[in-house]
Amino acid sequence: MLRTIRGRIVATGIAMILAGLLSSLVLMQQQSALLKRAHRNNVDIQLNILARNISAAVLFRDPAAADELLEALTEHHHVVAAQALDQAGEPLAEWQRETLPPADVEQFRRPVLVDGEVVGYVEAVVSNAGVNKATRALWRGALIVMILMSLIMAGGAWLIQRAVGRPLLALSRISDRVRTTGNYRLRAEIPRPPELAMLARNFNAMLETIEQRDAILERDVRLRTAELERLADQFRHRAFHDALTGLPNRALLSERLPSAIARANRNSCHFAVLLLDLDNFKNVNDSLGHDFGDELLKTVADRLTTALRGQDLICRMGGDEFLILLEDIRDPAALDRVAGSIQQALWRDTAVAGHRIEITGSIGGAIYPDHGTDISSLKRSADIAMYASKGRGKNQFTLFEKSMEQPTLYRMMVQNELRDSLHNGAIELWFQPKVAASAHAPPLVVGSEVLARWNHPTKGLLTPDHFIPYAEETGLMRELDYHILRHACAQASIWHRTLEQPMPVAVNLSGIHFRDHAIVEVLQEALTATALPASLLEVELTEAVLIADPSVAFEVLTAIRELGVSIALDDFGMGYSSLHYLRTLPIDTIKLDRSFVQSVLSNAVDQRLIEGILSLAAGLELTVVAEGVETIEQLQFLQRAGCHQMQGYLFLRPSPLEQFEEWLRRTGPAPDLGPVPAAQSVHVLTD
Ligand code: C2E
Ligand code: CA
Ligand code: CA
Repeated sequence: MLRTIRGRIVATGIAMILAGLLSSLVLMQQQSALLKRAHRNNVDIQLNILARNISAAVLFRDPAAADELLEALTEHHHVVAAQALDQAGEPLAEWQRETLPPADVEQFRRPVLVDGEVVGYVEAVVSNAGVNKATRALWRGALIVMILMSLIMAGGAWLIQRAVGRPLLALSRISDRVRTTGNYRLRAEIPRPPELAMLARNFNAMLETIEQRDAILERDVRLRTAELERLADQFRHRAFHDALTGLPNRALLSERLPSAIARANRNSCHFAVLLLDLDNFKNVNDSLGHDFGDELLKTVADRLTTALRGQDLICRMGGDEFLILLEDIRDPAALDRVAGSIQQALWRDTAVAGHRIEITGSIGGAIYPDHGTDISSLKRSADIAMYASKGRGKNQFTLFEKSMEQPTLYRMMVQNELRDSLHNGAIELWFQPKVAASAHAPPLVVGSEVLARWNHPTKGLLTPDHFIPYAEETGLMRELDYHILRHACAQASIWHRTLEQPMPVAVNLSGIHFRDHAIVEVLQEALTATALPASLLEVELTEAVLIADPSVAFEVLTAIRELGVSIALDDFGMGYSSLHYLRTLPIDTIKLDRSFVQSVLSNAVDQRLIEGILSLAAGLELTVVAEGVETIEQLQFLQRAGCHQMQGYLFLRPSPLEQFEEWLRRTGPAPDLGPVPAAQSVHVLTD
């Protein structure tokens, strides 16, 4: 209570009243003592005068004279009775007032002296009534004064309390309301005392500033959210559509397929996929050029769109391959009709970029659920059927049949030989540098990516697309990645000891590792066995890892991150890419897919998307690496856009260890052209 201003004012008021009362009491005490003393003095003087006047009467024992003198006391009202006594103390004369003496009386005696000798005494009985009355009157007056004073002080304290305490309380209440409701439109009332009025005005001004700032902030957030939403839409569109033809792509197909399957199951009907591969497209492309090829693909896309029903999903799967999803197929003959109309539409006499050409395509068909129950098995069946069409002389339609499905020789070869190759060193680690995107020449190396190569005894050097899909069908994929991982850690550990600058390595991990926790232990073992600091290892994975079981994938990623290994999201912008993942996944880096970089100079939408992604990544403190940088123009655009790191043929193609180290040595320590965050020049120590 005493801590509040109001409490203090009240306490001060009470203290002042008490002090007033106390000092009044002391004063009154003194005053009444003074009155009493004056009264006694008065009595003294009168008795002394009497003793002097009466001395002759006492000396000569003259009672009449003494009586007369005593009677003169009548005019002194406080004297009640008096007597004169002789030397022996025997009464000589007496006088008494007629009225009854009041209770409070006092007796006084004085000697009567003649020439210094006691000749007798005078005695008087004196009433204190007068002095008591005066004292009472004094106390009454004082009491009234004290009450008035207390009232004035209490009133004063109340007024001060009202003038200061109340406005302060009101101010504190309003500030509390602002705090709890977040409503900055509230304002404090302006109190009368100027100091407090100033306080309240300043408080209001502060609220106004906050309110304005809030409004600006809110508007900014709204704008930014709208921008992000637009970006997310564009991004989604790009992820689900082919940039060249605008047709849906493989990712959209994967997304649509489950609902097509559900519908087919519900209605006990079939759906089909047709796979169209243009005949001789490679020749056209090679002889007439890529631009012409692109024009041709656009023409094909247009013709497919007009030839088919609106509800059929037409996807470009890459290159000159198109897939058409046809729902609600009653009988296989319907597929023949659709394939026929596609071929007719394509075959129309065509002029592309001034050249007259004939377009034909081979088509394979597969039906759900007879020829496959998921996208990959359906696609594979349609693929086999399509190759059968090609085998029959192109420009044909073939519906898949079980008899066509023979394990391909190639697949058998991979699956039989890969295991041995893993053990006899035929699986090699090739390296490609990642460089800082700053304007440095020679480039500043910030790390490297490991890419697998199979040095096959008869088929020569095989890139991953020639063996990884088959390895993924068997248990070999895990072994392959573990192999690469262990060797990559060993190499990184050597660089850690011999290079002046850190040289992190990035390893690609297949999606299968994200279905259980085994990879976490393997990573830990590889780091321990090679004594490699976890900070020098990065794993690259695609968003596809999240499809099988997102929650397990998330847990595995979190565990990997806890080891201290960094995580890069590969092929960002392809397929399932969702901006949402950027916020939720525990990742450090995103690698912009090659297709972005390749279309960056021709496609304004992609340019905007790259800029948007970069600004988003900056907000989330993610590093952005651009993949597949092949030209100076691409490099310059990416530099301007604020991309952090780059990778691509422009710097170095994936190379075997010796060539990679040779390149590092040639690149050498770069001249310092200004600060570059997280970028270090690398050079190999030679002996
Ligand atoms: P990725 O992770 O996106 O690797 C980049 C690919 O782009 C590599 O293909 C590389 O050779 C190629 N590349 C680099 N710079 C350029 C350029 O400037 N232009 C063009 N056109 N291409 C460039 P590569 O080596 O054929 O690997 C293909 C994919 O195979 C990789 O794609 C990766 O997903 C996978 N892969 C490679 N090694 C492994 C591995 O050890 N384990 C797993 N699970 N996957 C791997
Ligand atoms: Ca990669
Ligand atoms: Ca990639």
